[in-house]
Amino acid sequence: MENLKRQPPPPALTERHSGIPSRLYGIAQEAKNRLYSNKTVPESVPRRADVRLPPDTTRDEFDIAIAALKRDIGDDNVVLNNQPLVDGWYLEHPNTHDAFHVVDQEDLVCSAVAYPGSTGEVQVVVRWANKYAIPIYPISMGRNVGYGGTAPRVPGSIVVDLGKRMNKILNIDAENASCVVEPGVSYFALYEEVQRRKLPLWIDTPDLGGGSVLGNAIDRGVGYTPMGDHFACHCGMEIVLPNGEILRTGMGAMPGKNGADNPTWQSFQPAYGPYSDGIFSQSNFGIVCQMGFWLMHETGHQSYMITFPSEEDFPDIVEAIRPLAQKRILGNIPQLRHVVQELNVTGLPKSHWYAGSSPIPRDIIQKHAAQLPCGDCSWVFYGTQYGDETSIETQLDIIRSAFANIPGSRFFLPSDLPDDHYIHSRALVCSGVPILRELDWLNWKPNAAHLFFSPITPTRGADAKIVHDINIRLHKKYGFDLFPTLCVAGREMHYITNIIYDRSSNDEKRRVAGLMRELIAETAREGYGEYRTHVLFADQVAGTYNWNNNALMRFNETIKDALDPNGILAPGRNGIWPKNYRGKGWELLGDRVEKAIGGGTISPKL
Ligand code: ADP
Repeated sequence: MENLKRQPPPPALTERHSGIPSRLYGIAQEAKNRLYSNKTVPESVPRRADVRLPPDTTRDEFDIAIAALKRDIGDDNVVLNNQPLVDGWYLEHPNTHDAFHVVDQEDLVCSAVAYPGSTGEVQVVVRWANKYAIPIYPISMGRNVGYGGTAPRVPGSIVVDLGKRMNKILNIDAENASCVVEPGVSYFALYEEVQRRKLPLWIDTPDLGGGSVLGNAIDRGVGYTPMGDHFACHCGMEIVLPNGEILRTGMGAMPGKNGADNPTWQSFQPAYGPYSDGIFSQSNFGIVCQMGFWLMHETGHQSYMITFPSEEDFPDIVEAIRPLAQKRILGNIPQLRHVVQELNVTGLPKSHWYAGSSPIPRDIIQKHAAQLPCGDCSWVFYGTQYGDETSIETQLDIIRSAFANIPGSRFFLPSDLPDDHYIHSRALVCSGVPILRELDWLNWKPNAAHLFFSPITPTRGADAKIVHDINIRLHKKYGFDLFPTLCVAGREMHYITNIIYDRSSNDEKRRVAGLMRELIAETAREGYGEYRTHVLFADQVAGTYNWNNNALMRFNETIKDALDPNGILAPGRNGIWPKNYRGKGWELLGDRVEKAIGGGTISPKL
């Protein structure tokens, strides 16, 4: 790293809620230096236009509304988005637009950012939005990388950045092994606090530790310990509804004694009556201001890696995984990765491995993999087992013998691999230690950004192969490297591909948008749907869940219209449009995203 230009240091967690803990200063600094060394475009360019106004709002009306909001929550807590847009990087991410822009950087932007400091101030913002008919778009930390960052779906919305002033860990209950957090608490912050209190508890973290614990869970993100399903491990929410009212879900709906919080709020999820929490995940039905989570008891753990020689082993590997996953012998949410990612996770650019601009050919991957610790193989499985030493040994025996049926498979422990091998990072993430290693993906290309394509398949070889084959064919057609990672839960796998493109190239952006469009459509024809997607593809993905004449969307719209009659809260998020937007051409279907790149717009032509 010595040849790289040193960048200004990333913010520390002690100075900013979105900052980095001191144990990772050096790693973060190196990651930043490396990333910026691959950047060929300027940090920002002059804005082409002034503030992007909300729909159907004149500048005068907007100014009056903003002045009122400043009076309501304080001058400093409302900031116009009229300065040059800076993409920054993971630890210094913008809250004004999507740093990984697919359409033009200035197209998917907010008009201003509001920073409420309490649930009460969130209510104030919501009431203000209803009064002035201006759409608002809540974010917690706003990282959401690969899914749209902080960009509101409707350009000109007000981003409500909850994390900046609402970032307290409200409670850690060591006896109940649970916590309650506000939106601005990152995995880094929660982990550091558990360590500071010397509690024998684990948190669960995604691959990158800078996201919001609350934001990730309501967007149904995953981590990798046995408690990796974040939404399934939440317990209780406090929500501001689009009409400004506050709702507590679960046992929080019952008052505690003498005005205290209910003592079972973080112990029992559903309480009495319909279990309503689910409708506040991946939706635009409320702003979540507090959320409870279960924590895991610290335990012994052992990570391992298994390699498989042949591309064609793929369905057999999945078949071997299924009984292990369903019987819960696999300890966590393990990952099956294509070997190309052994090259990628080194943090070296594609040009280090291959001089061409086409997708890296199979024989080149093979040649380089042969020189790496994984050896010449095609698939790599990363797992972790938990418990005491004896039970881990028993589990590993069962796993080894299950995979031994695949000829040529090889089993590695971290002690078999060099100190800088990726397995050591996985061992940390799989024991709840938030890190940054996965940032190295972005060194693959200059000015790299990425989109996730994330369909769900049954844990069955034949199904996984259909999705994989579609990916192979379409990545080739659109000229992108294919990086599949399968995150395995019991009966299903999240098949996640990370599509890396150069932000400075409209050609690459058009191709990546075309690739996404075709991937969504083709996998849906086979019956496979995405669990999460970038805001620009929400309409298309939502449209694939159309059984019985779109019964699900009609149900969602009924709830939306009842809760948010003025349609102010995150219109279009997850493809759910309030009635005042429907039928006006807001939906991004067909090739509209591609057409918007390089001078078009995602707003309807009125
Ligand atoms: P992270 O930083 O953890 O990646 P974000 O804060 O970007 O997560 O949240 C992901 C998405 O979830 C946001 O774009 C937003 O649409 C939604 N979201 C986040 N926080 C809230 C919240 N507190 N209430 C309602 N929706 C939210």
